[in-house]
Amino acid sequence: MELELQKTIAQPISYIGIGLHTGQDATITCLPAPENSGILFCRVDLPGKPLLRVHANNIVSTRRCTSIGCTEEQWSIHTIEHLMAAISMAGIDNLIIELDSEEPPVTDGSAIIFLDLFKKAGLQKQAETRQYIKISRPIYVREKDATLIALPYDGFRITYTLSYDHPVIRTQYADYEITEDLFYAEIARARTFGFACEIEVLHKRGLALGGSLDNAVLIHDKGTVNPLRYPDEFVRHKVLDMVGDLAVNGRVLGHFIGIKSGHSLNAQLSKKIVSLQEEEKC
Ligand SMILES: [Zn+2]
Repeated sequence: MELELQKTIAQPISYIGIGLHTGQDATITCLPAPENSGILFCRVDLPGKPLLRVHANNIVSTRRCTSIGCTEEQWSIHTIEHLMAAISMAGIDNLIIELDSEEPPVTDGSAIIFLDLFKKAGLQKQAETRQYIKISRPIYVREKDATLIALPYDGFRITYTLSYDHPVIRTQYADYEITEDLFYAEIARARTFGFACEIEVLHKRGLALGGSLDNAVLIHDKGTVNPLRYPDEFVRHKVLDMVGDLAVNGRVLGHFIGIKSGHSLNAQLSKKIVSLQEEEKC
């Protein structure tokens, strides 16, 4: 593979919006970062404005979303996956993300708004080459009836099977060779989704408090309340989530095959990839 240079954004971008689970307004400002910084969150609302690098080992929860955090200091950042998908598929390697809340804005529930903002900001090529993590042998993680497999592959491919015992969803299948152009054209607009019958329970658990028809597809017994952007928007969103979740370790090359998998298995696989990489270095 041709050596590619690392990139950051050419100028800062800002966005204000509501968090999906917290329902709180948040201001996010993304700033250029030096080579080899990776993606760093900075909680500007906390004393000392602590920084935390996005990394599989910093994932602290995968309940309905992917959260990273600092367990000693008891703070976290929820729902990073859609933003991470946009960062990765915009071609950004290094970035500082200032955030004044514990959750970035959900925007429209997809990755397109941040992706467009990054495109508008432009990219700055940097002096160091981009590093890739290659899946060197088949690995898998399982949980109940869900499985996520990673196979060696000279590219980035995601195959996903979604299956819900629900008349509006049933089974959906997707297989994509993920490139930045493909992601922009086919996946970036796919929104998160939720079931009308679950809303009350989620709200009682303090989840989806910012969810609305502006940022999620709402599903009831016979159809969706708001129109779909793609006939198979649900499976495309699961692919979007996987792109964002796998980006926590930077760039990975492999063929990822998910069957009913979600944030929990994505995080377990990313952690496994890190530990295998460390083993191989020894
Ligand atoms: Zn999602």
